[in-house]
Amino acid sequence: MAIAHKHPMTNSLTNPIALRHTDCLIYQKVHISPYTSYKVGGQAQWYVEPKSWNDVQEIFRWIEKQQIPLTCLGAGSNLLICDRGIEGLVLNTRYLKEFSLNQENQSITVGAGYSLPKLAWLAAKKGWEGLEWAVGIPATIGGAVVMNAGAHKGCIADILSNALVAYPDGNLKYLSGQELEYSYRTSKLQKEQALVLSATLKLSPTSTRDKMMEITGNNFKHRKKTQPYDKPSCGSVFRNPQPQAAGWLIEQIGLKGYQIGGAQVAHRHANFILNAGNATAKDIYNLINHVQEQVQNSWSILLHPEVRMLGEF
Ligand SMILES: Cc1cc2nc3c(=O)[nH]c(=O)nc-3n(C[C@H](O)[C@H](O)[C@H](O)COP(=O)(O)OP(=O)(O)OC[C@H]3O[C@@H](n4cnc5c(N)ncnc54)[C@H](O)[C@@H]3O)c2cc1C
Repeated sequence: MAIAHKHPMTNSLTNPIALRHTDCLIYQKVHISPYTSYKVGGQAQWYVEPKSWNDVQEIFRWIEKQQIPLTCLGAGSNLLICDRGIEGLVLNTRYLKEFSLNQENQSITVGAGYSLPKLAWLAAKKGWEGLEWAVGIPATIGGAVVMNAGAHKGCIADILSNALVAYPDGNLKYLSGQELEYSYRTSKLQKEQALVLSATLKLSPTSTRDKMMEITGNNFKHRKKTQPYDKPSCGSVFRNPQPQAAGWLIEQIGLKGYQIGGAQVAHRHANFILNAGNATAKDIYNLINHVQEQVQNSWSILLHPEVRMLGEF
């Protein structure tokens, strides 16, 4: 079945480039903010939405020829893109959504653009254990693999069999969790130009579907109660300096509600910085730095941002 595609919002007067051997269009000067959860940031110099591995290969050939950098974009739920925008090509994975399920060994192979919370509900409905923590994380599979997304004491590293990773030189590799060098919210892909094409997750059979639906539903309710989902954010801004929680350290020094421009430290959870209305990326960036500085001064702890900041601030 053909997918109905919406054209991205572009500021360019020139027609998009039709990529040879594909039905992919490469657009110029595309507004990226609609594709991020913060709803801020400038334009991508170039922008593309591949639908297959064949498309990706042609895109890689094109960027090699142009000698421009590649930025992968999942659901944009952990990205702060600068107001001046991003140089090079932004590749949005949202149409890379292949899906296959192995009933016998409870494993699922999914394309990078597949929604993580959707997959968590699907697993719960089958009574499979392993993804119930993921229900409130508005990520794609690709972004979750790169960030080692996690919550409620679970994370991607616990269930990943392997990820299929493509490199701009055309190389394709299956990487295990060990090869991805997983640790808390970290993988080696955060330092590389590479595209996660898909991932295979290994789940476990459990008691009943009802039980899994209950746990998953409770996790979702808990998050809605304790975290601000009503305003644009990127979730937790800082990694927790374990054993401490960043939110607690920020709250104790009275920064809840503190605002710079349109960016605000959330009242409900101090490790969330919200776009409280018309924030610029610079407002959010300045507030992140302010919070970091205040925590350092008061607690002598340097908080490390979990949010990925792209471009020049
Ligand atoms: C309300 C809210 C709640 C959140 N709660 C949590 C939480 O509980 N736990 C948690 O861990 N995170 C949480 N997050 C943060 C975020 O959802 C995760 O970091 C998630 O893994 C990001 O996935 P994404 O698809 O949005 O990736 P993006 O934000 O689009 O990208 C993140 C990084 O991954 C790269 N990337 C994305 N896709 C690919 C790909 N296919 N190949 C290669 N690189 C890629 C990007 O270039 C970027 O560096 C929350 C965010 C929000 C808005």
